[in-house]
Amino acid sequence: MGLTAFSTGKHTKSEELIIKKKKATDKIIAIAGNPNVGKSTVFNALTGMNQHTGNWAGKTVTNAQGYCKHKNDSYVLVDIPGTYSLFAHSKEEEIARNFICFGGAEKTVVICDATCLERNLNLVLQTLEITENVVVCVNLLDQAKKKGIKIDLNGLSKKLGVNVIGTIARKKKTLDNLLYAISNQKTNRNVYKVTYPIIVEQAVSILQDEIEKMVQGKLNSRWLSLNLLSLNESFLEEIKAYLQFDILENPKISQKLCQAKDMLESYGVTEENLNDIIASSVVASSEEICKDIITFKTTTNKDIDRRLDKIFTSKKFGYPIMILLLLAVFWITITGANYISQMLSLLFGFIESKLQDLLQFWNTPPLLHDIIIEGIYRVPALVVSVMLPPMAIFFPLFTILEDSGYLPRIAFNLDKPFKSCHSCGKQALTMCMGFGCNAAGVVGCRIIDSKRERLLSIATNSLVPCNGRFPTIIAIISMFFITIGGFLGEFLSAVLLTTFILLSILMTFVSTKFLSNTFLKGAPSSYTLEMPPYRKPQFLQVLVRSVFDRTLFVLGRSLSVAVPAGFIIWCMANISVNGNSLLLICSDFLDPIASLIGLDGTILIAFILGFPANEIVIPIILMGYLQNGTLTEISSLSVIKEILISNGWTVKTAICTIIFSLFHWPCSTTVLTIKKESGSIKWTILSVLLPTVIGAMICFLINLIFL
Ligand code: GDP
Repeated sequence: MGLTAFSTGKHTKSEELIIKKKKATDKIIAIAGNPNVGKSTVFNALTGMNQHTGNWAGKTVTNAQGYCKHKNDSYVLVDIPGTYSLFAHSKEEEIARNFICFGGAEKTVVICDATCLERNLNLVLQTLEITENVVVCVNLLDQAKKKGIKIDLNGLSKKLGVNVIGTIARKKKTLDNLLYAISNQKTNRNVYKVTYPIIVEQAVSILQDEIEKMVQGKLNSRWLSLNLLSLNESFLEEIKAYLQFDILENPKISQKLCQAKDMLESYGVTEENLNDIIASSVVASSEEICKDIITFKTTTNKDIDRRLDKIFTSKKFGYPIMILLLLAVFWITITGANYISQMLSLLFGFIESKLQDLLQFWNTPPLLHDIIIEGIYRVPALVVSVMLPPMAIFFPLFTILEDSGYLPRIAFNLDKPFKSCHSCGKQALTMCMGFGCNAAGVVGCRIIDSKRERLLSIATNSLVPCNGRFPTIIAIISMFFITIGGFLGEFLSAVLLTTFILLSILMTFVSTKFLSNTFLKGAPSSYTLEMPPYRKPQFLQVLVRSVFDRTLFVLGRSLSVAVPAGFIIWCMANISVNGNSLLLICSDFLDPIASLIGLDGTILIAFILGFPANEIVIPIILMGYLQNGTLTEISSLSVIKEILISNGWTVKTAICTIIFSLFHWPCSTTVLTIKKESGSIKWTILSVLLPTVIGAMICFLINLIFL
């Protein structure tokens, strides 16, 4: 697979513009659109990939690439971040605008939401200002139909002068026409152009011819003239890098620019208000286009959405519903995980006995036999049987909440408390993503425009436990706190887990407040939170996607760490210096520090060695304790509990281990992501220290109280 910069091959400045083509003849297709209109769904359906989809604005924060074939043509599809305009006020808008301008796409597919087409057309019209090679895809036709909205797609196509295709992206079959339109070579004629007030048109015409001579079709001269007039500085820098010369250094152009600006100013049009004039002309054009192509029958669904919002975001019910849903999610997770764990336990016991037989049959030396069975096999087996089931259940449940459109309502409810900590409600969205994976939560912080608030969200994201940490907490709760079985036991476990999660949310607020009063002082920004419509989640697809893709991905990651970790721990446990194993020496060394915070040296080593993946903490603790013994029934919690108790665990140790699991350094992937997203070592160190200090302090206090 070759690495090719986009078409001109010159501009290598931004990594978002680098396209990996499989073949030199691959055609680049950009997929643009407002947030939450189905771009990733279309992208996934056409490429067979699994770009994150979800019912909330801002989840695609960078370009994703995938491949697809149609007849004899092959394409690189680029899913660019959702954006409402190309005037670039935020990072995503900048990425989207730059890709449409400089990405070298053969065609740009602009996906629109049929339920609010008029607003979506603003982006279509702005895209048409940059390139005429546009295909408009009117998606969510099923939702529009339900809402009594009818769209004359042919009429729209005639008005815009480009192909308009209607789709229901969730039904892959409906995308055939889109593929056909993409591959259709016919270039568009009489493409719709926004008409600006006459004075702006005159200013553009002063510049356009001269600019055309310089850029020679590499960029749209009309669009460029408008941007020069409104002096979009960051964009001018990008243009300079792309063209590899500064257009303003040409004396003729700077002279004409002055002339055009003087003329605009004589009519009271300044650089600042020109942007507003351009934006309102685009809005007026969209309105004009939609006038006779959209017909509304009823507004019942809007009413249902409004009624649901009255409940989910009300002062009275908003919080109780949030807590009840959290409780329900954990209860289902714990109950379901028990069954899967038992089944996996049987399976791994069976595989182990077969493996033992095989090793005996091959006359494997005892040392190698022990390394394979007690080290390399049992740690991953424990990871899979105890740690994996909660993940496999939590992921789909979380995705259902995401798909239904409930997550932004959580952000809405938490907006006020976050504002009182001088942050914003969008932090709630990134916090929720952290429950799935902290690294994803940190990347998600890109949806926050203010740099200060973004850093606040990045630094506090690891305070909520990711999927890798849930199973540890669930396992300890089941072993030490809720020992009764059955429905009641599972329910009480869920209540306890919810309490711990609420503690982690509370600590997120406390830390956000602390940081905004110390290192990151500033007032909260004002922003508008997009409330997507409620949509029925696609249960089957959610299940398949979460279980087979996300869960298998996490499984692969933890296994790749668990196998070498199992080997290293086995070696540490079995290599002795002066009669003491290396593991014992290390844990003895850490014991004094660990005992201050209610843990022991082995637990602390497990957290340190668990840096690459939190899922392996419990298996490492067990290996540490069983230096000379063997795990007989690897996945039975009662056996594990016995091992822990015989190594000095009390209820206090259990509480401290849960607290330390909630609050300690983020895993290696998250740390690297924080470094990348914050671009600073200082903030990375702060993000590592913050949860660690909080965890150590709480454990220290618990240790003191229960001494
Ligand atoms: P993006 O933000 O534009 O990438 O949007 P996504 O692809 O993540 O889709 C947003 C939500 O809309 C997801 O829950 C999708 O399952 C859902 N969705 C996408 N296309 C359709 C469609 O045609 N009909 C319906 N009912 N839902 C859709």
